[in-house]
Amino acid sequence: MTFHASILTLYPDMFPGPLGASLAGEGLRSGLWSLDTHQIRDHGIGRHRNVDDNPAGGGAGMVLRCDVLAAAIDAAVPAEDPRPRLLMSPRGRRLDQRMVRDFVAGEGVVIVCGRFEGVDERVIEGRGLTEVSIGDYILSGGEMAAMVLLDACVRLIPGVMGKQASGQEESFENGLLEYPHYTRPREWEGRGLPEALLSGDHARIARWRREQAEKITRERRPDLLKP
Ligand code: SAH
Repeated sequence: MTFHASILTLYPDMFPGPLGASLAGEGLRSGLWSLDTHQIRDHGIGRHRNVDDNPAGGGAGMVLRCDVLAAAIDAAVPAEDPRPRLLMSPRGRRLDQRMVRDFVAGEGVVIVCGRFEGVDERVIEGRGLTEVSIGDYILSGGEMAAMVLLDACVRLIPGVMGKQASGQEESFENGLLEYPHYTRPREWEGRGLPEALLSGDHARIARWRREQAEKITRERRPDLLKP
């Protein structure tokens, strides 16, 4: 079973973009995951293929039409497709590592990328879209948010990262931020290496890393420590 991403967007040319580089790109080319894009405008209205209109009730900006988006979704994914249908949205549940793991455990994701002021609310319910945010700030469109979500997923797919998938030791995996890393040279601009890391004593190293992770988490993200 591979991870399959379907993206609905007004800018399909943006994909795979950065996801075509490095290990994610190799994984894409070797079939460890796959990506298809669907142009929402193909389902636009009339000769000009209109996809948006003025907000009901007035106000600035434009809103993506529900009928156009629904037609695009219906054409791109069969009703029985088991993958979650996500709408990138600043109002959504904030993406975290647990959600990423859940997506990777399934067969992939369908992602609708918003633009303008957003999408007509009725299509969210009508097509069972789950809103997902990547953080408390406003982007100009959902495409880069979708790429962030996909990058976080793809690196967890077995085979994509090879040995680098340190998995369990990374930030958030155990509810802590990660301990600090060091490598060569042994001394740099008068700074040495932490004593414990030179000891060769694996239990001591593990203990030191755990203490550091707890200290950094307490200092920077005490919210992660709350039950
Ligand atoms: N008027 C909206 C913002 C629209 S931004 C509001 O105030 O909530 C345009 C599109 O960019 C959105 O429809 C969404 O798809 C995407 N987007 C913007 N910020 C995002 C974020 N933090 N996370 C995920 N998607 C975001």
